[in-house]
Amino acid sequence: MSVCWLCAEEAKLCESHVIPRFVFAWLIETGGTPYLRHGATPNRRVQDGDKHFLYCKKCEDRFSRFEKSFKERVFQFAISSEKLTPRYGPWMSRFAASLSIRAIHSKSYRGVSDAYSEGLRNQISDAEQSLREFLLDKTKHPGRYRQYFYYPGYFNSFDAPDLPSNWNTYIKRSVERDILFTEDESFCATFVKTGPVFFVGVIRDGKGILKKDFLRCGDGELSGHPFNPPSMIWHHLSLRASKSIDLMGALSEKQAKKSEEEVRKRFDDFKKSDLAGTLIEDLEQFGPRKR
Ligand SMILES: [Zn+2]
Repeated sequence: MSVCWLCAEEAKLCESHVIPRFVFAWLIETGGTPYLRHGATPNRRVQDGDKHFLYCKKCEDRFSRFEKSFKERVFQFAISSEKLTPRYGPWMSRFAASLSIRAIHSKSYRGVSDAYSEGLRNQISDAEQSLREFLLDKTKHPGRYRQYFYYPGYFNSFDAPDLPSNWNTYIKRSVERDILFTEDESFCATFVKTGPVFFVGVIRDGKGILKKDFLRCGDGELSGHPFNPPSMIWHHLSLRASKSIDLMGALSEKQAKKSEEEVRKRFDDFKKSDLAGTLIEDLEQFGPRKR
């Protein structure tokens, strides 16, 4: 028996997905070959993302209810680049909070120690506690730890200077989670990207970088504005996209050959896949990728 990271009760823990399983299922289904490559270790193929022993069955079930609503009412439309239904229910902020808390728990679970000051570490732990109470229905909102949702799909094409050459593929298909912080520690937030949509969960926002369009904890409406995140978030996206070009460059020759073979074997499936579509968009916008 262990202690559940959410409800703190003693229980047998499930092997929990840090990023919901349906996101990886979609990536595999639409990637044209049945394998994924793990961002940080591109030489290893993975099937469905990181899993850790974190939560009890009851808490997992709680998370899956929010996941189901999000998948059916938002994700399905976003992966088809469709306009989203603006109205959402209480599940939306809870789904966002569940991603944020998983991003925080995953770091502690893996023992990743970032160069945070003690002050910031304490604030992360305060945020974790507020998110936990909110997710367990002990409070009606997570206090100042507001959750934000972004869908770049409102924007038809990106035409900003200096975009990395894999921009479309990164924006529409990358899956990642992290804790972001500025060097002066005035800003810190969780960042979870599930393909074409992403979430930011505030831990500290000393300079008020994020605007007032955070997710409401009851019913709410998504802002219909064009995608216009704060410049720091924009910069982060661009940096991560460039970084993933470097990671693919780190793919060993043997593995690169294997990837090519996988594509060749299933070429008919591959050329119809969503991944092939975004690679072509990148090629049309940026020209052949330099190795
Ligand atoms: Zn639990």
